[in-house]
Amino acid sequence: MQIDLHTHSTASDGRLPPDELVRRAVQAGVEVLALTDHDGVDGLQTARQTAQAEGIRFINGIELSVTWNKRTIHIVGLNFEPDYGPLQKGIAALQDFRERRAREIADKLDRAGIPGAYEGAQSFSEGRMLGRMHFANFLVDRGYSKNIRHVFKHYLVANKPGHVSGDWASMEEAVGWITAAGGIAVIAHPARYKLTRTKLRKLIKDFMAAGGQAIEVVSGSHDVNEVKTMAAHAGDFDLYASAGSDFHDPDFPWIKLGQLPPLPRQCKPVWDLFL
Ligand code: AMP
Ligand code: MN
Ligand code: MN
Ligand code: MN
Repeated sequence: MQIDLHTHSTASDGRLPPDELVRRAVQAGVEVLALTDHDGVDGLQTARQTAQAEGIRFINGIELSVTWNKRTIHIVGLNFEPDYGPLQKGIAALQDFRERRAREIADKLDRAGIPGAYEGAQSFSEGRMLGRMHFANFLVDRGYSKNIRHVFKHYLVANKPGHVSGDWASMEEAVGWITAAGGIAVIAHPARYKLTRTKLRKLIKDFMAAGGQAIEVVSGSHDVNEVKTMAAHAGDFDLYASAGSDFHDPDFPWIKLGQLPPLPRQCKPVWDLFL
């Protein structure tokens, strides 16, 4: 079965509207799809309707931003009730921070000699949630960077122009909102944080103490060895394993929608909990 449990639409920083994303997933042969936009659930209804019309299984998803030990960690939520009040309140607080951060990013870029970034980023987000990807699009469009990858090396990251520290939800809050809404919390792309083995195990322990149950073993941003490492951690902690591309944009050739290797055989698939 082809499964992709981590994707983005224009409801956050993805390039395709939710209905187009679903149709593209169908073309790619995906049979079970989750839409996991950053800190928001606005795309879920349209995506679900399209998935129903197209005859594929749709799972509600979200990717929550968390500040853990001064780092930004992403927690994916799967198969939850999006209307659950405390989750909605949590999302509203995260969106408030995004708005404040966007103003601050623009001020910092302005002081670095790059004016008009707030309006520029907004022209890419089209009035929806503002993320660093929209600033990245602006910086590429205006010729400050040659591509998105260049932006995330030379701007918007620690010690570079336009960097603002995260002040997101706590681990307890984010995992709590998802599980109280009936869902499953998943550590997103664990290899991306470049943590030492000890720190990663501390992250997993804190996540599990908050009620988290799964970890992305297969991810568009994991190489073969990282898949093996994360499968071993999942085994050690008896966590369920998830698989998701983290697809954002058809023009980013390094991450394809629905094109994922299988989970290592010893893993417990997270979809056993809801399929
Ligand atoms: P934000 O949540 O607004 O801080 O933005 C985080 C998003 O920026 C991620 O979800 C990616 O979409 C994008 N991003 C971060 N780092 C990179 C990178 N090195 N290359 C491409 N996109 C990145
Ligand atoms: Mn993103
Ligand atoms: Mn992420
Ligand atoms: Mn993502």
